[in-house]
Amino acid sequence: MADIESRLKGDGILLLDGAMGTQLMLKGIKAGETSETWVLNRPDDVSAIHKSYFDAGADIVITNTFGATPIKLSHFGLSKKAEEINKVGVELAKSVCPDGGFVAGGMGPSGKLLKPYGDGDKDELFENFKLQSVALMEGGADLIVIETMMDLNEAEIALKAAVSTNLPVFVSITFDKKKRGYFTMMGNRPEDAAKSLIDLGARVVGANCTLRIGDMVELVKEISDASSVPVMAEPNAGSPELEDGKPKYVDGPKDFAKKLPDLISAGAKIVGGCCGTTPETTMEMRKVIDSL
Ligand SMILES: [Zn+2]
Repeated sequence: MADIESRLKGDGILLLDGAMGTQLMLKGIKAGETSETWVLNRPDDVSAIHKSYFDAGADIVITNTFGATPIKLSHFGLSKKAEEINKVGVELAKSVCPDGGFVAGGMGPSGKLLKPYGDGDKDELFENFKLQSVALMEGGADLIVIETMMDLNEAEIALKAAVSTNLPVFVSITFDKKKRGYFTMMGNRPEDAAKSLIDLGARVVGANCTLRIGDMVELVKEISDASSVPVMAEPNAGSPELEDGKPKYVDGPKDFAKKLPDLISAGAKIVGGCCGTTPETTMEMRKVIDSL
């Protein structure tokens, strides 16, 4: 059975899944409800979403554990459930994982700004990410994906915690496009982020969220030029616009997939979708990848 390391070393493109939140909304998640509770309360729906992405051709699906640190779950009175949510989150994805597929344990920001900008404490965040990564490993994750990080310092803390599991760790930062180039919310530049994350042991670095696929091409090139490891990219399908009272994302599955070759030419080896992408997007991306 192919392991993730040999896939990373090979020539092929690896396809990640698309958005989880968008699918949970279709299944009726309410505003103000935290998606991670669905791992425990609606496990069949969560597995069904993972399965729909594998069926659409994804090589890797990401668990529904983005906000499953004790610190973040504390807003919902669920801190003590953090370990369980992470473990079960992996098991749900594993239960529908086909031969040759992989399950990535998903980790996102703590929701706190580090001092002096907020009251986030380095050691406390490290302990939170450590608990989460160990639980993801114990659940059986093949790798860990740290995503949507807005602050390089926080990404570094999460990465240090995650590499202690000895699993391959992918780190994806969210950048916005400004007049003077690409920056995180905290002012980090792509090449600086890539370099310091690679120094700390990231197996893959890249970008996700905020930008549409067309706007991410140049960013991927910048990251790729600064990187000695494979690069990942998960663009958004754009901002939702209302059509007949329902949100419709500007980049439909076919529009999104049409621009995929540009992203791959810019250096992306691991590609997927963020907000607004669906199993249909994954299916169209699969067709494009198979035709390359
Ligand atoms: Zn997103």
